[in-house]
Amino acid sequence: MDTDALIEKTAGRSIPEIFAGEGEPYFRELEADALRLASLEEEVVIAVGGGAALRPGNRRLMGESGFIVCLEATPETIFRRLTRGEEGQDRPLLSGPDPLALIKELKASRQALYAFADFTIHTDNLSPDEAASQIVQAWRRSSTQAMVDSERQALSGPLAIASPNPLQGAAATVSVAGGSYPIFVQWDALFDLGARLREAGLTGQTYLISDDNVFPLYWPQIEAVLQQAGIPVVAYSVPAGEASKSLSAAAKIYDWLVERKAERGHTVLALGGGMVTDLAGYVAATFARGLPLAHIPTSLLGMVDAAIGGKVAVNHPRAKNLIGAFYQPRFVLADIATLRTLPEREYISGWAEVIKHALIDDEALLRDLEENAGHALKLQPDVLTRVISRSVAIKARVVSQDEREITGLRTMLNYGHTLAHALESAGSYDRFLHGEAVAIGMMAAAVISRELGMIPPEAVERQRSLLVRFGLPVQADGLERGQLMESMALDKKVENKAIRWVLLQGFGKPVVRNDVPLSVVETALDEALR
Ligand code: NAD
Repeated sequence: MDTDALIEKTAGRSIPEIFAGEGEPYFRELEADALRLASLEEEVVIAVGGGAALRPGNRRLMGESGFIVCLEATPETIFRRLTRGEEGQDRPLLSGPDPLALIKELKASRQALYAFADFTIHTDNLSPDEAASQIVQAWRRSSTQAMVDSERQALSGPLAIASPNPLQGAAATVSVAGGSYPIFVQWDALFDLGARLREAGLTGQTYLISDDNVFPLYWPQIEAVLQQAGIPVVAYSVPAGEASKSLSAAAKIYDWLVERKAERGHTVLALGGGMVTDLAGYVAATFARGLPLAHIPTSLLGMVDAAIGGKVAVNHPRAKNLIGAFYQPRFVLADIATLRTLPEREYISGWAEVIKHALIDDEALLRDLEENAGHALKLQPDVLTRVISRSVAIKARVVSQDEREITGLRTMLNYGHTLAHALESAGSYDRFLHGEAVAIGMMAAAVISRELGMIPPEAVERQRSLLVRFGLPVQADGLERGQLMESMALDKKVENKAIRWVLLQGFGKPVVRNDVPLSVVETALDEALR
């Protein structure tokens, strides 16, 4: 059953006519009715348009009554398909001078919602028959999983909680010049690693790179999962800590890859926090002019930031991340359950980036974080899946629109970073974790925004209390204002530019300013320092 066909039949008019006559809201009402009608049927395949996911009621209905498959494609593919033949003329939402831009915009605004699907299929290179057979396979696997879950539940009694469906779809997709890739955010996602590699066509030899904190915790599980999937894997572990993000560590990994006869087409798996995703990503980008890469981030910062967007690098003794590249992974698999073993201070620090995403882009996420901080800190799976998926979707959208920091959109992600970098260098990088420095930096940026009359004092206090709820610092002690000013000026001299601040003109409205008066910066630093 196709909901569009049902609507046309019931209304006795075409969809473009309905759009032209009564507008989109009325069409969405008819669509919800059609979906309700179709959902009453049993053993039926229902095709809905991408807009059906907009209504929470529709999503709930689909979730309760069926297995949901999301058919993904890049905006370019969608454009090609819709403008083939006469179909292009029938799309009221795409009439206008630049339909491709409209597709990109619509897709970006809806992408996060598609995370509710049980399974996502990337259809760019598939014929309709191939896509259909993948849908059937996914459905079969999900039915088997449901049986396993119910048997497990029966065995362990009525109070046991069935493990969440391992086939849940991508939380977001990054679409960049070289193609697009999914980001999966799930509790227990590691169990699905073999399936994800197969979906991506990566069934050859894999090389897992990790650090010596993370490796012993998750290697047994990964080895078993990949063995079951028939995907060969060998592993290399570096000492944990930023010192391993170096050219010399990369050189040792190259030697290991040469010994193992790694070749093009073999895959690098990066398992760990941002240090590992940066290092292994750098190795993947450079070895044999590029090996396919999959990120498996295990720290909160890795999940919402480092693993998304394709920046990979090692440090130079004189500067962090100086030697690197833009190199996108084939997919990102974030298993939220791994956060259970992340040291608490690292976990809390990671929340600064999630809060940053909410402040610069999404007031609904901000409210969610305010209401559910307690659950998030206690690692409640549903809350974590929801807010991390949302945070991931924000970063994915920004990097999709500005992969290489050209249009300036990606700069918005630097909210809090002007002072954070100065704090990190003043503390020689070992006093503050990155997120802690960003939290203090965001307070300074908010105070500057207030002093310039861009946001009211209550907004600064709202930000402060959210950071405090998550256990993040909002002030630094023992540092001199002059020391930080010097450090920021040094940064400026290095870049040969004025000091740039990302400020807020309101929640979700970041702006870049390089004309902040010195006296205002001093006021902000005085509030940021104890
Ligand atoms: P990290 O990778 O050093 O991890 C922090 C600590 O947590 C390490 O000791 C690690 O072994 C441990 N750990 C990680 N996951 C664990 C788990 N599940 N269980 C137990 N221990 C675990 O640091 P990080 O904060 O994740 O990332 C910081 C790095 O990320 C920096 O090098 C930074 O430059 C980089 N980064 C890169 C980007 C990017 O866009 N590429 C963005 C932000 C940060």
